[in-house]
Amino acid sequence: MKRIVIKIGTSNLSDGEKIWIEAIERIAQSIARLSKKFEIILVTSGAVASGYTKLRLDKSKIASKQALASIGQPLLLETYRKVFEKYSILNAQILLCGHDFDSRSCTQNAKDTIEILLSNKVLPIINENDSLATAELKFGDNDRLSAHVAYYFDADLLVILSDIDGYYDKNPHQYSDAKLIKTMSFIPEENLKTNYDPHGHFATGGIVTKLIAADFLIQRGKRMFLCNGQKLEILERLLLEGIQESGTIFG
Ligand code: ADP
Repeated sequence: MKRIVIKIGTSNLSDGEKIWIEAIERIAQSIARLSKKFEIILVTSGAVASGYTKLRLDKSKIASKQALASIGQPLLLETYRKVFEKYSILNAQILLCGHDFDSRSCTQNAKDTIEILLSNKVLPIINENDSLATAELKFGDNDRLSAHVAYYFDADLLVILSDIDGYYDKNPHQYSDAKLIKTMSFIPEENLKTNYDPHGHFATGGIVTKLIAADFLIQRGKRMFLCNGQKLEILERLLLEGIQESGTIFG
């Protein structure tokens, strides 16, 4: 069975005021359909935004942000648990940080756990271990974390769900004539350095971290699909019928 990592970003899950339960409902519905054909691993953001709905700490301070993540992570997973229960899908939480991919034995331990979960039809839900990771060990965004997850845990494809239809030749929020690029097999060096520009207030990655994730996977012979998390039918059409209506395939 092919293995797919799906990463869902903060902008798809929250406006900062609350976690959108409907967004989690839609992703659960899609995952329920996709898991008939694929092994799925979910990487989710949203812990800080989730914590902020309960306690208004100053997100610009790193310790407060980590505290928010530690408040928000169980709340977020509780929401996932309730929703996935309707589809009889059991969830498991795995928190990882950069360091876990530096040590071969750590990576292998995590992979062994993932294998057991997947073979028992449990959905692994991964997030960065935000409340403890220090700056040097942090990915800081789940785009690069999910690329590591896809590569080290032997996935065939990484799907990044964003607030945008795919990768454009220029920022579509600034240029109305921006054109969607449907396939990209190589990321030019200068595209990996464009200004860090997350669109949403709570988003952390921006397009550059998605390109870095794509580049990491392309260099290792893997593929990535960037598409809109509000249009999951596009993801399902690609994965279940092989038809690409929108989105960008990297690799
Ligand atoms: P998420 O929270 O879903 O990870 P981000 O806001 O971090 O999403 O990143 C996606 C945003 O990157 C888009 O909404 C857009 O504002 C911005 N962006 C900048 N340049 C481009 C581009 N060339 N193609 C697509 N998006 C771009």
